[in-house]
Amino acid sequence: MNLILMGLPGAGKGTQAEKISNKYNIPHISTGDMFRLAIKEGTDLGIKAKEFMDQGDLVPDEVTIGIVEERLGKDDCQNGFLLDGFPRTIAQAEALQALLTNMDEDIDYVLHVDVPEEQLVKRLTGRRICPTCGSTYHVMYNAPKEEGICDKDGSELIQRKDDTSETVKTRLNVNIKQTKPLLDFYQEKGYLVSINGDKDIDVVFQDIQAKLEKLAL
Ligand code: ADP
Ligand code: ADP
Repeated sequence: MNLILMGLPGAGKGTQAEKISNKYNIPHISTGDMFRLAIKEGTDLGIKAKEFMDQGDLVPDEVTIGIVEERLGKDDCQNGFLLDGFPRTIAQAEALQALLTNMDEDIDYVLHVDVPEEQLVKRLTGRRICPTCGSTYHVMYNAPKEEGICDKDGSELIQRKDDTSETVKTRLNVNIKQTKPLLDFYQEKGYLVSINGDKDIDVVFQDIQAKLEKLAL
């Protein structure tokens, strides 16, 4: 199954992606995670991406498309994939179509996780992540068992640099402008599936499964 997860920052894409990836056995491909790893490792890609990410701006299309192309060519994508945070521009969406056509593949569904804007700021500023395993928590909505500590590996949780209230607003504004044309693009092609993301994490996941199972019938 070839899936794309769409939604504004904080909509719960990463949270749902982990569950979808486990359930359907497809790799979770997050361009944001790939950039953060590259920054941590100090690679050329990381150096390029960092200046844009720190400002809350998008990394240029040619850089982003290049890393996705490389990733989709890996063996673990044979069973399908789940893209999270890509595409974010029409140029990226068109490049993806061309790439998939070349691989004799197509997108099955684009899941749009929809959450009202006022909720997103609360979710983003309260988000904490594990720098070791990438798990995502929230100080109120999805708290770890022990405050500030990852349930899975005991690492100390951190706040992403771009999750401070100043950058969050820029990121939301940049994304709101860019999301609409993409939603129209996929709606027109008949790929779009709407998910109400303004519910508890497990309820949202149940809705996603129910919709995918209904569509696959
Ligand atoms: P995205 O990948 O779309 O930016 P995340 O999955 O990282 O979003 O979620 C953003 C924050 O909101 C995290 O702190 C996460 O724990 C929390 N969160 C995710 N889904 C929900 C939900 N349905 N209800 C409340 N909080 C949520
Ligand atoms: P969120 O959904 O919470 O904004 P991501 O982890 O998806 O976070 O993205 C973090 C940052 O990485 C973005 O603000 C942007 O700078 C960069 N990025 C991620 N995906 C893309 C993309 N498809 N195109 C351009 N930049 C991207």
